[in-house]
Amino acid sequence: MSSSASGVVNGLVNGGISFWYADEGLPQVREPLAGDTSADVVIVGGGYTGLWTAYYLKKAAPSLRVTVLEQRFCGYGASGRNGGWLYNGVAGRDRYAKLHGHDAAVRLQRAMNDTVGEVVRVVAEEGFDAGVHQGGVLEVARTPAQLARLRDFHAHELSYGERDRELYGARETAERVRVAGAVGSSWTPHGARVHPVKLVKGIAAAVAALGVEIHESTPVTEILPGRAVTPYGTVRAPYVLRCTEGFTAALKGERRTWLPMNSSMIATEPLTEEQWAAVGWEGREALGDMAHAYMYAQRTADGRIALGGRGVPYRFGSRTDNDGRTRLETAAALREILVGFFPALAGVRVAHAWSGVLGVPRDWCATVTLDRDTGIGWAGGYVGSGVATANLAARTLRDLVRLDSGEDGRTDLTDLPWVGHKVRRWEPEPLRWLGVRGMYATYRAADRRETEHHAAGSSRLARVADRVAGRH
Ligand SMILES: Cc1cc2nc3c(=O)[nH]c(=O)nc-3n(C[C@H](O)[C@H](O)[C@H](O)COP(=O)(O)OP(=O)(O)OC[C@H]3O[C@@H](n4cnc5c(N)ncnc54)[C@H](O)[C@@H]3O)c2cc1C
Repeated sequence: MSSSASGVVNGLVNGGISFWYADEGLPQVREPLAGDTSADVVIVGGGYTGLWTAYYLKKAAPSLRVTVLEQRFCGYGASGRNGGWLYNGVAGRDRYAKLHGHDAAVRLQRAMNDTVGEVVRVVAEEGFDAGVHQGGVLEVARTPAQLARLRDFHAHELSYGERDRELYGARETAERVRVAGAVGSSWTPHGARVHPVKLVKGIAAAVAALGVEIHESTPVTEILPGRAVTPYGTVRAPYVLRCTEGFTAALKGERRTWLPMNSSMIATEPLTEEQWAAVGWEGREALGDMAHAYMYAQRTADGRIALGGRGVPYRFGSRTDNDGRTRLETAAALREILVGFFPALAGVRVAHAWSGVLGVPRDWCATVTLDRDTGIGWAGGYVGSGVATANLAARTLRDLVRLDSGEDGRTDLTDLPWVGHKVRRWEPEPLRWLGVRGMYATYRAADRRETEHHAAGSSRLARVADRVAGRH
C-alpha cells in the first residue's frame, strides 16, 4: 500500500455496499420466489430501472400482474451506491443526433429535462423522503484547457434547446462554491441532489404497495422468451424485462453485451461550520468538473461531501460484485481530488469508501428496447448517468409493452431515438481489459499534461482515448 493510501485508512469503512446504506440501514430482505409461477410482466433486477418500470406499468394498468425478481435486495446495485446526481444527462445523445437527426436528439434531451421534475414529482406524490434538493448542476473548469472545453460544452448544451443554462466566470463561480483555481463554470437548473438509497427504498415501497410481487434473494440464471429461470422456480410471462445494467454480463448469453465498469466514491465525515464557511456551496448544486478523469460530488443532507470519479474502472473478466469494497489507493486518489478542490479540507477524514458497477455499451449509448418477436425487453447502458435516465427508460418500457399488447398506440416516448438501438458487442478478453485500462491511463495523462502545460485546447491524448473507447 502506498503512503498516501495508508493515510486514508484511519477509521475508514470500506464497502458495506455504500455509505448510503451505512446512513440508512440495510433493508429487511423480502421473501424469495417459492416455486414456479406466472405473471403478465416479469422484471429482472430491482434497481431504479426495474422498480420504476413496475411502478409505471402498475399505475397504467392496476390489474396487471407484475413480478420483480432481484438477486439480493432492491437497491443492491448502482441504484444504492451512486453519487445522487439526479440530472438531465443521457449517454449517447450526440450519437443519436448523428444517426437520427438533431431534432430527434433534442426530443430526447427535452424528455430528460422533464424527467428530473418527474422524479421529484413522484417522490412528493408518494410522500417519501429521498433527500431531494433541487439546486441544479454546476460544472467547473480549473485549467485553460478545461475552460475551453467548458465553453464548448456550454454552447453544445444550448444547441439541444437548454435555454436556461448559465455560464459563470471565476467570481460568480466562487460566489456559489469556492473551488480552488476555478476559472469558470456552467450551471443548469435541470438537476437535483438525492439520497440514492432513500430514493430506491421509497420506490420499492411504493411499488409493493401497488401490489407488485417483489422476490428478493432470487437470482435469475437465464432469460428466455416467455420465462425467467431461477434456482427456486420459473416465472412465465409474455414479457420479460431485463433491468440488470452493470450485472448483465453475468447472465447467460450476455457476457459481451455491456461492459461492467467499476466506479468508486468516498464520503467525508460531516464538515464543521468553519469548513463549510470556507467551501461555500450553499446552493447544494450537484458539483462536477471538466477534467477528462472527471469528478462528481454532492453536499449531503447530513453535511458531508460525497465524491466520486473515474477510479479503477474495470476488472478482468467482467467480475463485478464485492459488496462495494474498493482499493485504498482509489480512496486516496479521490481524497486527493477533494483536497485539490477544497484545500481548507486538508485535514478532513474520509469516513467511507465504496464502489459500484455500471453498464457500458460498445458505443456508449443508453438504450431501451422491446423485441416484439420474443417479448424480451431491456433498458440500460447508461454509462454513469442513470439516476434520472432510468426513470425515462422505465416509462418508455411501459409504453412499449402497452403498444405491443394493443393497450395503447405509439407515444412520444416510443418514438425517441434511443428506442430499439442496436450496437455490436464488446471484444473478448483480454482485449477488452487492455483497451479499457489503456483508455483510463490516457485520460489521466491528458489531465496531467493540461495542468502542467496550461494548454488551452483539449489534449490530443484525450481525443485518442475517446476513439479507443468507441465514443466517436
Ligand atoms: C459509484 C457510482 C456512482 C454513480 N453516480 C451517478 C450519479 O451521480 N448520477 C447518475 O445519474 N448516475 C450515477 N451512476 C449510475 C447509476 O447509479 C445507474 O445508472 C443506475 O442506478 C442504474 O440503475 P439500474 O436499475 O439500471 O441498475 P442497478 O441499480 O445496478 O440495478 C440492477 C439490479 O439488478 C439486480 N440483478 C442483476 N443481475 C440479476 C439477476 N441475474 N437476477 C436478479 N437480479 C439481478 C442487481 O442486484 C441490482 O439490484 C453511478 C453509478 C455508480 C456505480
